[in-house]
Amino acid sequence: MKRVDVAIVGGGPAGTAAAHAAASNGASAMVLEKGVPRADRPSGLGPDSTDAAGILDYWVDIMDIHPDEFPEGVLLHELDRAEFVGPNRTVTMRHTGIESSYDEFGYTFHRARFDDWLRGRCEEAGAEYHVKTSVKDVETDLDAAGGEAEPRHLLRVKNGTNVGADFLVLADGPQRTLTMPVLDRLLPDGKKASDVLGPRKANHIAYQEHRELPPEVAEEVRGALKFWWGYMPGHTAYPWVFPNDGEMARVGLTMPIGMDLDEVEGREKYALLRPEDERIPTGKEYVRRILEHEYGDEYDVEADFPLAEDRGKRGGTETYAISSTRPVDSPTAAGIAVTGGAMGATSAFHEGGDHLAVRTGAIAGELAAAGDLSAYNDRWKEATGDEVLRNVSFADVVHDYGPDDWDRTFKHVNTLMTDEGSNGLIDTSKAVAGFGAAKLAIAYKRRKRKFRNGKYVQLRESDYVV
Ligand SMILES: Cc1cc2nc3c(=O)[nH]c(=O)nc-3n(C[C@H](O)[C@H](O)[C@H](O)COP(=O)(O)OP(=O)(O)OC[C@H]3O[C@@H](n4cnc5c(N)ncnc54)[C@H](O)[C@@H]3O)c2cc1C
Repeated sequence: MKRVDVAIVGGGPAGTAAAHAAASNGASAMVLEKGVPRADRPSGLGPDSTDAAGILDYWVDIMDIHPDEFPEGVLLHELDRAEFVGPNRTVTMRHTGIESSYDEFGYTFHRARFDDWLRGRCEEAGAEYHVKTSVKDVETDLDAAGGEAEPRHLLRVKNGTNVGADFLVLADGPQRTLTMPVLDRLLPDGKKASDVLGPRKANHIAYQEHRELPPEVAEEVRGALKFWWGYMPGHTAYPWVFPNDGEMARVGLTMPIGMDLDEVEGREKYALLRPEDERIPTGKEYVRRILEHEYGDEYDVEADFPLAEDRGKRGGTETYAISSTRPVDSPTAAGIAVTGGAMGATSAFHEGGDHLAVRTGAIAGELAAAGDLSAYNDRWKEATGDEVLRNVSFADVVHDYGPDDWDRTFKHVNTLMTDEGSNGLIDTSKAVAGFGAAKLAIAYKRRKRKFRNGKYVQLRESDYVV
């Protein structure tokens, strides 16, 4: 049996940030990563680097890593705006309205290179990082004496190795294959982690393609994250374009898992559905349709927007589960911290989660190294709670929106964002806000009130039997 102070399951941003912080604070730390092959990581297996990566200005401070620290090739594109396109109205945001130390609107980056850099960073701090190391189970003995012989956690790895650790950081991402069974054993009868974290219920599916844009289209989207709302059915379901290096972009979408087309109301209003559809289109078909919808009049989409087959995960495409739920507290008295996508920290409103993964991981690693995780649930709320509150509140407000609601909302948001000096998306300080805009702002404020003081948490520390 190998023995460490802190064992970390999952080697994505949350896991490597935890390992970096633990090792930098003097603990022995080991990352166990199952390892996946990716076309954009020809050097070998690595973490499952979901490559659609955009960071907004204030996320830089939440992540606590400035892009100036990146080596060459990680940062791809600086952003100056986000465009939200509704069926008939568009909102362009040039400010997030939230104070930050980063001067641009945001940036996009190469996720596999970012993850590899984070891996190198934690190894330089003294952590071990093992790939091809899939953890199949963890036994937790709350009465273990500790020390060399009796670790509190025994991690059983698929290759037959066992790892003993005093602290366990769960960073296995939104599939939560290990997080759910580990938490279940610490919950009372009748309560299951899968009720709130089960991927089919709590997640969305995301699909994207790496495409080369015609030069004029690349110029048009330069500097912009572009999202289309009210184009496809399902809550927080939308296609996007993220500019990359040169004329490359990622064109993708996110949608709820297992939607039934027969249950979609007003399907004729969704620009990306067709009357002849018998089921919800596949991700690939949706990407084709959004490109046709936007550029089909002027271009032959298949010929003029070629797929870059050497990019992304495989053949220029990627399919992922994406966490779209609310976060859970961790059973810290058992020496366990759940972090990043596994804990549901990723935004329920948009995909943003790398900043939350890095920050929650770093807090978990630092506390584990100090030998006491009890402050973890307070610390992650202090560092990321405002962001989580914003995201869950927005997700709640727009949950049942259809195409008309998006148009109406964008009209109101344009009223709220009256000028360049606007303070962000929902700025009630603007006296010009019309009645509709005021209603939107009130709905948002109400949701924030509903979830304030950490009420967005789905499993509280007191729910665990430890
Ligand atoms: C399509 C898409 C677009 C996104 N866009 C953005 C964006 O623009 N900006 C942004 O900030 N965020 C974005 N996100 C979210 C972001 O990718 C996640 O929030 C982030 O990856 C979470 O990091 P993590 O370390 O918690 O989990 P992950 O990155 O998912 O890492 C988990 C790791 O655990 C490993 N693992 C799982 N189970 C085991 C096991 N049993 N044993 C060993 N290893 C295991 C996996 O192989 C994986 O490498 C996007 C996500 C998707 C899917």
